[in-house]
Amino acid sequence: MNRRRTDKMTQGRYANIIVDISHEKVDRPFQYKIPDELQGKLEEGMCVQVPFGMGNHLRQGYVVEITDRAEFPDEKQKLIAGIVNGNMPVEADAIRLAAWMKEHYGSTMIAALKTVLPVKQAMKPKEKKKITRLLTVEETRGVLGECLRKHQNAKVRVLEELCKEQVLPYELVTGKLNVAAATLKSLQTQGVISIETESYYRNPVKLQTAKEAGLDLSPEQAKIRDRVLSDYDENRRRTYLIRGITGSGKTEVYLSLIEGMIKRGKQCIVLIPEIALTYQTLLRFYKRFGDRVSVMNSTLSAGEKFDQCERAKKGEIDVIIGPRSALFVPFPNLGMIIIDEEHEPSYKSESMPRYHARETAEYLAEIKSASLVLGSATPSLEAYDRAKKGKYELFTLNRRLTGGSLATVSVIDLRQELRSGNRSIFSRRLQELIEDRMAKKEQTMLFLNRRGYAGFVSCRSCGYVMKCPHCDVSLSQHIGQAGQIKGRMVCHYCGYETVQPPKCPSCGSPYLLGFKAGTQQIEEQLYRRFPKVKVLRMDGDTTRTKDSYEKILTAFAQGEADVLVGTQMIVKGHDFPNVTLVGVLAADLSLNDSDYRAGERTFQLLTQAAGRAGRGQKPGEVIIQTYRPDHYSIIRAASQDYEAFYEEEILYREIGAYPPASHMMAILITAMQEEKGDALARKIADLAGKAGNAAIIGPAKASIGKINDIYRFVLYCKSTDYGQLTQIKDKIEQYLFPLALKEENVQFDFDPIDSF
Ligand code: ADP
Ligand code: ZN
Ligand code: ZN
Repeated sequence: MNRRRTDKMTQGRYANIIVDISHEKVDRPFQYKIPDELQGKLEEGMCVQVPFGMGNHLRQGYVVEITDRAEFPDEKQKLIAGIVNGNMPVEADAIRLAAWMKEHYGSTMIAALKTVLPVKQAMKPKEKKKITRLLTVEETRGVLGECLRKHQNAKVRVLEELCKEQVLPYELVTGKLNVAAATLKSLQTQGVISIETESYYRNPVKLQTAKEAGLDLSPEQAKIRDRVLSDYDENRRRTYLIRGITGSGKTEVYLSLIEGMIKRGKQCIVLIPEIALTYQTLLRFYKRFGDRVSVMNSTLSAGEKFDQCERAKKGEIDVIIGPRSALFVPFPNLGMIIIDEEHEPSYKSESMPRYHARETAEYLAEIKSASLVLGSATPSLEAYDRAKKGKYELFTLNRRLTGGSLATVSVIDLRQELRSGNRSIFSRRLQELIEDRMAKKEQTMLFLNRRGYAGFVSCRSCGYVMKCPHCDVSLSQHIGQAGQIKGRMVCHYCGYETVQPPKCPSCGSPYLLGFKAGTQQIEEQLYRRFPKVKVLRMDGDTTRTKDSYEKILTAFAQGEADVLVGTQMIVKGHDFPNVTLVGVLAADLSLNDSDYRAGERTFQLLTQAAGRAGRGQKPGEVIIQTYRPDHYSIIRAASQDYEAFYEEEILYREIGAYPPASHMMAILITAMQEEKGDALARKIADLAGKAGNAAIIGPAKASIGKINDIYRFVLYCKSTDYGQLTQIKDKIEQYLFPLALKEENVQFDFDPIDSF
């Protein structure tokens, strides 16, 4: 296939060069003059030799920009000594990638470099610990039984795993299994386990479980594996999209593909959303590839991240698993990139450059000559559209391989409930079913489709809403760790905190009350309706501390509650075989979001939520409560019909010229002074109109017009031609550069996922 080359040869007399990036902190580029003999030969991303510093010693550097803009007079410019030929070091690809990101998404080169380059300081090799079971499985079960009686839950967790594996990586146990060091110490003293430390490089830990062979793939799975690998062998590089319901065997396909790549001496990057990087998922990779696999995620220290990159460079690992930043692990021989849950919004960066991992992976695959495999139960409209148009190759997996049937889904019209006199947040049907599950000792998940934290504080007499003085948002009641209300109010955007006044500042009424966070209210209603129910709640308030997310899920998995109540975070990851009922309480809330992805987001959330029921042998049931039972996102999610959803949604995108039917660039203008921001936004809109062929919408105040005393304006440009948008962006950057604005700032967001 022909992937479009988007990096351009730039003409100019000067080159901005980052010198010796593997040894220096990335700081700033130095400008050099391009000698005549190199004119036209130099490209951004190339490795060159330049005289550096007082002694003019020759050092290696990378060209990050070619320009006609001299930063100082010609007589002071040093000349580039020459191009470094031969094998380009790994970093050269990173520079190319950064240059592409800068061009494609808009940012400074330094910001792009900081994104693609791992930590620069060399770190001491990390020590790694492993836990080895010293007893037989039988004996261990004995100890396990004892711990169960004593309710030593942490010990139980680790012993259960040790009955299955003789050796476990220490970090996996303290991290994902959430077992304290002291607990392990105690097991060591008891003589149940040994804990050994080994240096990372000298003698990497081997998982002593016999590496597990893969399952025999089903014919559908095997077809995907064979096709992708034979394409690879025949030098066809493509992007593949696997659409497959949860449990249809996508991960098993990834594993077999990785195995194939390893056999060919190639390495793989596997992207998984951070929230789905659970112990179970990781263990599956560890079991298959032993210490040839490693992880990258936000809980790693800078040193640990550095180590993973060093190991990758030295060929000590074949596979890295992690969220979007794992894309930048510098493998010498990258063969494949896999992106699981490709539709996840977390694949889009929220800071400049606002890159999308899917597109960036596509470019990276191109420069590395690798294949790209995407997987999802509910593909993004972008990916599915490209598959429909033949740009990606589409595979479908329809069957759950572990048996277990799909859940039955019913939609309940909340307007009808109200008409028949039910004012509760639970429909009558849902109440019956919760009661039924409690009686059967089966579990229920209740999902509130709503983002954000606690409710706002308002006056019940006059409707006055307490607002943050620095932001255009209402203040929220502060909820403490244990859920108690402290009489304080906070702003979730800037952190401003204040005491809740005793009276309404506007009318003096004492009835100034906070609306409770949705999930908290559900929890209370549950206790009121079912006095014996045991509830776990998971939302922004209960998961502030590190690991609390995993703790709550583990507790639920171990049957410590009848009902788990939560926001969207509960619909991902983790399998709960005992959950046979899922209730979605307000399915249409996300349809009210102001951006064009609202329908897609709703469909994905409902589909995922439905996928939570009936994962074990018992059949599951899903209740979707909504005020808009006739909306296509809800109808299609209920019938679990992705194809029909896609057909309707793409029509809507075409009519509105939204991505993927068209491309869109959002421009955010921020300013200390409102009038200046307004004027700049108008000027930029004017420039945008002249600089390219795009529809310009705005400027207007952003949906949150002020955050932290900084005013925000937004402007949208739409065009089916991405190049028109980058051209407009370039013109705006050229206009802004000489102004060197201090109090105003301009940011670009291409094909945005969240609105400003
Ligand atoms: P997904 O990634 O699509 O959710 P998984 O690969 O995790 O699916 O597979 C779901 C379940 O089916 C897992 O328990 C897995 O072990 C099992 N499974 C996958 N492929 C096969 C197969 N070919 N034969 C038997 N079981 C399989
Ligand atoms: Zn009032
Ligand atoms: Zn604020």
